[in-house]
Amino acid sequence: MANNSTFEDALLRLKSLTDLTDINPEVIEALLHPKEIMSVSLPVRMDNGSKQYFTGYRCRYNNILGPTKGGIRFHPQVNQDEVKALALWMTIKCAVAELPFGGGKGGVTVSPKDLSPMELERLSRAYVRSLADFIGPHRDIPAPDVYTNSRIMGWMMDEYESVKREHSPDVITGKPIELGGSVGRDDATGRGAYLCALELIKKMEWQATEITVAVQGFGNGGYHVARLLQQAGCKIIAISDSLGGIYSEQGFDIESLWQEKQQSRKIRGVYCDGSICEMIEHTTISNEQLLTLDVDILIPAALEGVITRHNADAIQAKAIIEIANGPILYEADKIIHEKGIRVVPDVLANAGGVSVSYFEWVQNRSGQIWLIDEVHQKLKDKMTDAFLNVWQIAEDEKLSLREAAYVKALRRINSAISAHGTKEYFAKQ
Ligand code: NAD
Repeated sequence: MANNSTFEDALLRLKSLTDLTDINPEVIEALLHPKEIMSVSLPVRMDNGSKQYFTGYRCRYNNILGPTKGGIRFHPQVNQDEVKALALWMTIKCAVAELPFGGGKGGVTVSPKDLSPMELERLSRAYVRSLADFIGPHRDIPAPDVYTNSRIMGWMMDEYESVKREHSPDVITGKPIELGGSVGRDDATGRGAYLCALELIKKMEWQATEITVAVQGFGNGGYHVARLLQQAGCKIIAISDSLGGIYSEQGFDIESLWQEKQQSRKIRGVYCDGSICEMIEHTTISNEQLLTLDVDILIPAALEGVITRHNADAIQAKAIIEIANGPILYEADKIIHEKGIRVVPDVLANAGGVSVSYFEWVQNRSGQIWLIDEVHQKLKDKMTDAFLNVWQIAEDEKLSLREAAYVKALRRINSAISAHGTKEYFAKQ
């Protein structure tokens, strides 16, 4: 584990850009300080009649570019420090994707798998009741993250509407389609990463059919990126979840694995033809082993901080596409860069989710309902533009893709801050 906290690590990365670019130090300084953070205690009546207290957080990190936007995580490791780091990354991500949003994030320290569906609903509603004046369609718009999903977003919207006594589908995104969600939001994060992968494959002059891929995390992000890359001809040779991973040189059929996981709650190497499933030969591997496999593309799609200075040297992938937020610690960045591994950073690679969340918010506010082709085309345009833009900055200014993405974001935030007047402007008066 790193010595720094996740937030300290995120700040180190930000400060390291000061010498690299023409960014006004006032912008970096502004981004070292989260605007607001709320911590709330959430009493929840459990099914056995007892009352349990959970801690919830919500951070509005920076709103210079618009209302803050970011997911809500339900996980035992959620803490204030992690929420702040994730909210900072959302600020950068929304600026990279050129969305009219600032960055925010929230979470509850809880092991959701230990709760019954009714306890989960009570907790979700308690979170929104406590934070109903902190969030809002013009202020701070939550969305799903690790171990939260569209049903939970639906409960949260419903609770917000009950408190405010008005219809407000635009307070939260990632809702069920029947409750004002957008088509295309379910696979948007994985699809966005897939679109980045396609552009990377073109730039590297690779052939999709010759690419091997390992994916850590088989949830919303990991499943969809693996499915789409397999459809494009890539071989997904390893995949894992919190319990461990599986490996097969011949590659897995992702849809079959997903169906198997839904039924057995385990990932096992199966191939399904219609309703008949066969076990295919595979070995079980640990999450640590998956990271160091000799593959073309490694996709961390679970939690942050999995690549550190201790295992960075052992990474053999030619490229890494970060679906998880912060999977590579700052201390490991340099090692990975020196090994010549191309990293498509989280603030670009996983921006598909917030982009379609933005489309959902626009539809809710304008009363429009877009069809799937329109959503897919808009997402493709947004992700491809962002990727090519970042790639060009990296080439022109001899930066890594991560540095280039931050530079793009900071320039955008810089122009907004400058529009209010900087030290140079006021010193002249
Ligand atoms: P999810 O809850 O749908 O899936 C998480 C997956 O990670 C599960 O398969 C789980 O078993 C696995 N996992 C949990 N702990 C693990 C561990 N210690 N080792 C290996 N696997 C583990 O979550 P998600 O929405 O797919 O999010 C995954 C990552 O992507 C997170 O870092 C999240 O912040 C990021 N992300 C998600 C979205 C989104 O829209 N869902 C958007 C941007 C970024």
